[in-house]
Amino acid sequence: MSDQNPVFIPGPTNMPEALRKAVDMPTMDHRSEAFAEILHPARDGVKAVVKSDHAEIFFFPSTGTGGWETALTNTLSAGDRILAARNGMFSHRWIDMCQRHALAVDVVDVPWGEGVPVDRYEEILTADRTHQIRAVLVTHNETATGVKSDIAAVRRALDAAGHPALLFVDGVSSIASMDFRFDEWGVDVAVTGSQKGFMLPAGLAIVAFSKKAIEAVETARLPRTFFDIRDMRQSYQGGGYPYTPSVGLLNGLNRSCALLQAEGLENVFARHARIAGGVRAAVRAWGLELCAASPDLWSDTVSAIRTPDGFNATDVVSHAARHYGVAFGVGLGDVAGKVFRIGHLGSLTDVMALSGIATAEMCMADLGLEITLGSGVAAAQEHYRSSRADTSRLAA
Ligand SMILES: *Cc1c(COP(=O)(O)O)cnc(C)c1O
Repeated sequence: MSDQNPVFIPGPTNMPEALRKAVDMPTMDHRSEAFAEILHPARDGVKAVVKSDHAEIFFFPSTGTGGWETALTNTLSAGDRILAARNGMFSHRWIDMCQRHALAVDVVDVPWGEGVPVDRYEEILTADRTHQIRAVLVTHNETATGVKSDIAAVRRALDAAGHPALLFVDGVSSIASMDFRFDEWGVDVAVTGSQKGFMLPAGLAIVAFSKKAIEAVETARLPRTFFDIRDMRQSYQGGGYPYTPSVGLLNGLNRSCALLQAEGLENVFARHARIAGGVRAAVRAWGLELCAASPDLWSDTVSAIRTPDGFNATDVVSHAARHYGVAFGVGLGDVAGKVFRIGHLGSLTDVMALSGIATAEMCMADLGLEITLGSGVAAAQEHYRSSRADTSRLAA
């Protein structure tokens, strides 16, 4: 694998040089005031990225998975009912975590490639007249299938049912790359990690809690120690941390939030949409299909591409690594061998995306698929030429 090539996996993502440098710090005493000057701006930075005035932001030395556990253990008790849909590997894993914590999950299975079934959610919530369901889980962007779900619609379903359940959103592969509206959507806990939209190394679980979620902490009885946000909150008030923080990553997170704001959040989202559009144009030109079942579900951060029956999609990924030193994502779970994934989030330009599309073409042609070299690249080039606003800043 060449370290000169960008990666096209949907996390960890490519790191801008400025962020690599920001993470590389001399040792600091985390009980010093200098640490508070890193911690609090990072909390403010994330709050702005998720568009919230009210959320409390917490960081754990962990990953997105630890963020899930933070959401569950701080707000719920064994036996609590949870509503969740399984439409890909990540939603599946979060459900599995709930079950291992002895939560009673109402699982709605939907075909992989579909989004969260909002109508079904509304039916279930409406039927739950005694409000036994304590939390509703949604994976905003199912990274395994390249499917985006409509969080605003889930909020409307909760409101239409007059249901007080907490709304938990996995935003690991959407936050900082796709529009995320914590306050407007009435999200109670949002979860992400440092290594996707924030373009940093893995190592931070980043979670946002609403006031309502914070209140639930007092009655929640699931065991928690490392992920107890009461300890975090108390330490933050004194500018400190309940144990040793990942200072370098938090410093990087500050720089990352500053980079995102300098580009402009809306420009960041538009860049992701434009780059994704080019990848999708290439997929069409190849005569292939996305795993995502319809255009409203298309993810702007990752595309899962179906290969023809009888062809092992994983071969594209291993061939790209071996012959061209380029990383794509394999299919996971139900779609293993059926799709390969092009991650297009984080520090990425149109030009970088073109190199990934060109590499995917070479691999598919090498492996005997009927792909005309240059066809996907040309389609993406047309898309980038026509969709790049003259005023857009050169970003990332
Ligand atoms: C990557 C990812 C996760 C897992 O995050 P880790 O940081 O690897 O623990 C969870 N959910 C989604 C949607 C993801 O893309």
